[in-house]
Amino acid sequence: MLLGAIADDFTGASDLANALARGGMSTTQFVGAGRGKTDCEAGVIALKTRSAPIDDAVRQSLEAARWLLDQGCEQILFQYSSTFDSTQAGNIGPVTEALLRLTNAGVTVVCPAFPAMGRRLFMGHLFVGDRLLSESGMQDHPLTPMTDPDIRRWLRQQTRGEIGGITLDVVRSGTAALRNSLRAELTAGHRLVVVDAIEDSDLAAIAAAIADHKLVTGSLGIAQGLPQNFREQGKLSGTAAAVPLVDGPGVVLCGSCSTASQNQVACHLQNHPGLAIDPAVLMRGSMSVERAARWVELNAAENPIVYSTAAPEVVDFVQQRFGQADVGKKIEAFFGGLARRLADAGIRQIVVGGSETSIAVVDALGLKSMTVGPEIDPGLPLLIADRSGPLGLALKSGNLGTPDFFIRALDRIAGLERHFAVL
Ligand code: ADP
Repeated sequence: MLLGAIADDFTGASDLANALARGGMSTTQFVGAGRGKTDCEAGVIALKTRSAPIDDAVRQSLEAARWLLDQGCEQILFQYSSTFDSTQAGNIGPVTEALLRLTNAGVTVVCPAFPAMGRRLFMGHLFVGDRLLSESGMQDHPLTPMTDPDIRRWLRQQTRGEIGGITLDVVRSGTAALRNSLRAELTAGHRLVVVDAIEDSDLAAIAAAIADHKLVTGSLGIAQGLPQNFREQGKLSGTAAAVPLVDGPGVVLCGSCSTASQNQVACHLQNHPGLAIDPAVLMRGSMSVERAARWVELNAAENPIVYSTAAPEVVDFVQQRFGQADVGKKIEAFFGGLARRLADAGIRQIVVGGSETSIAVVDALGLKSMTVGPEIDPGLPLLIADRSGPLGLALKSGNLGTPDFFIRALDRIAGLERHFAVL
C-alpha cells in the first residue's frame, strides 16, 4: 500500500476511493477500522468521526493510521469535507495534530478547497460559490455550524499549536517557492498550514509540492492530485481497473425516496419484477425479511427490485404516523437484513439505492473491504467485496445516476453491456 487515507464519514470515503481509483491507483475501501484485502496501492478507511466526541475521533483515526502505516503506506491522507465541517473544539484540529505526532511529519497542509464543487479558499477564507462559508447556509448546520469563514482562525481554536497560512500568490509561484514557504512555516513552529486554492491547477501545484509529505489533510480536491505523485515516481502498477467478473443472480434494493431514485425505480419496473415495501405494513410486522427473500428467490433470474421508494406526500404521511427516525431505522434494518439473507442464499450482485440504506446493507453484510472498480456513472463505481467468493455491489446515494442506472449497474457487475430506453 502506498497511500493510506482516513475519511471522517462514509460518503466522503466512497467519493475518495472512487477518485483514487479513477486516478489510476488500485484502491480498496475499508469499512470502519476495517481490515481485509490489503494488496492495493491506495487504502481508504471510512470512519464516522466527523461529529464523534473528540477523544473517540482521535483514537479511531490513530488506530486507522497505525494500521495503514503497518501496511507500508508512505503517505497518510486525512480527508474531511470541503466545507470543513467541525466545531470550535474539533475534530479536524485534534485529529490532525495527533496524526502529525504519529507520522513524525514536520508539517502538513490543510486544504479544504474543492473548486469543482464551488469551494474555494482565498486568503485563508473559505467560499461556497460566491458566498463566504459563514453565509452559505453552513452557519446553520445542526451538528457543525460553520460561523467563521477564516479557516486559520477556526482551526486555531481546535489546536494546541499555531496555524500557518500560504496565500495564492505563493501557490502560483512554482513548486520550489511553495516548498520553501512550507519549510519557513515549519521553522516558525506552524505545523498546520492552511493553503489557498481557487482552481484545480492550484490544487495540482500544491499536490506536487507535497509529494514527500508524510501527512496530507484536505478534501477530495487535494486528494485527486496525489495519484500523479506516485505515478511520476514510477510506483503504480497500472492495474487499477482490474476487477473480477461476478457470476450469479442480482437484485436491486432501493430505500431512497429522492427524485432520481423514483425515476430509477419506475424505469427498472418497466422490464423487471418489483416488490413494493409499504412502511406501514413493515411497522405492523406483516412484511418480513423472510417473505421478501422468498419473493426475490422466485424472481431471481429477472433482476428483481425490492423498494420502499414513495412520493414525498406518502413519506410525510408515514413519518407523521410512526415518527421519522423510527420508520427510517426500520426500513434500513429491513434492507440490511434482506441483503444478508439473500447473500447467504447465493445472490452475488446487489445494487442499493440510498446512502443510509447502503450503509445499512454494508454493515449487515459484515463487509470489511471493497475493491473499487471503474465508474458506472460519475461518482458511482462498481465495488467488489469478498463474501465466500466475489460479491458485486453498486451503492447509489440520493440523486446520482441516470434513470436506467440499476440495470446498467447489474450489467456492469456481470460484465455485460445492455442498454434500456431512458424514461
Ligand atoms: P438518499 O440517499 O436518497 O437520501 P437514504 O437511504 O440515505 O436515501 O435515506 C432514505 C431514508 O428514508 C432512509 O432512512 C429510509 O429508511 C427512509 N425511507 C425509505 N422509504 C421510506 C418511506 N416509504 N417512508 C418513509 N421513510 C422511508
